[in-house]
Amino acid sequence: MIEVLESDEAAASARGREPLILCENLVRIFWADKVEVQALQGLDLHVPPGELLAVVGASGSGKSTLLGILSGLDVPTAGTARVDGLDLRTMKRRERTAFRRHTVGFVWQQTARNLFPYLTALENVMAPMTYTGMRAQARKARAGELLDLFGIGYARDRRPDTMSGGEQQRVAIATAVANDPRVLFADEPTGELDTETGAQVMAALRQANAELGTTVVVVTHDPMVSEHVRRTVGIRNGRTSLEVLRDHEAQSTQEYAVLDKNGRMQLPRAFTDALRMKDRVRLALEDDHIGVWPQQAPQRPGGERE
Ligand code: ADP
Ligand code: MG
Repeated sequence: MIEVLESDEAAASARGREPLILCENLVRIFWADKVEVQALQGLDLHVPPGELLAVVGASGSGKSTLLGILSGLDVPTAGTARVDGLDLRTMKRRERTAFRRHTVGFVWQQTARNLFPYLTALENVMAPMTYTGMRAQARKARAGELLDLFGIGYARDRRPDTMSGGEQQRVAIATAVANDPRVLFADEPTGELDTETGAQVMAALRQANAELGTTVVVVTHDPMVSEHVRRTVGIRNGRTSLEVLRDHEAQSTQEYAVLDKNGRMQLPRAFTDALRMKDRVRLALEDDHIGVWPQQAPQRPGGERE
């Protein structure tokens, strides 16, 4: 075999193969009253273009911190975070502004944070397009189409305070995708809504993904959200821990633990609690799996005790 030398072309194509979102060993440390808080502790995440992904974790697990970094609002302390090939750690201010206007869109949990209260739904969706140089007529037409797509064309001339929470969130989604971003981030977009309204908002996110081709990352503490997506990544203590793949047609799900480059993985709390595993476990390599035992238990059925 002839060895292929790394050329500029090869490097460019390698970048082309890079996932749209790439986090490796991502760390974010905050200092609060001289106390160090490690919000992200070496998080790994790869998201290919076109995916609809849920990131699920308890309150305080680092979800908002992750989205803050990926949307260019916050800067990592260490590690790699790239979106669409752009390095979020070294990005300059001007690049950051362009990134936030064109590459990413976001929807926040607090409905009020997403929309201008003094603008109608249509005007809200038109607002981000001001940066594109599109003519007013074209902006208006696109805003109307987006509102129709998400089923809220009827509210186009209404202001946010005359809409329900679910309607406001759907207008927020239309606004977030107005500039056709590569990725749409949603931070607990259903958090303030009841189950049914939440499902409508999830449907709108699915539509943005399926019909506009936007990659969508939704973070939430609500495990039910994973029923609406194919892949769910669990986040615990600032690291990705579990992945659930759901095959909607076969109605089956498969759970995986995330194994990082250093061989680290998190055992689910329910498993370690059930076997009272603490501090130390015993491992054994078998032909096709790895056994994990509590420190005190027999190493394997019929095996020697310590
Ligand atoms: P989640 O969104 O999953 O609830 P966050 O990302 O908001 O979690 O927070 C993760 C951890 O980082 C929490 O312990 C939180 O208190 C802490 N944290 C987040 N932002 C800051 C900040 N600006 N200053 C200090 N600590 C913070
Ligand atoms: Mg949060």
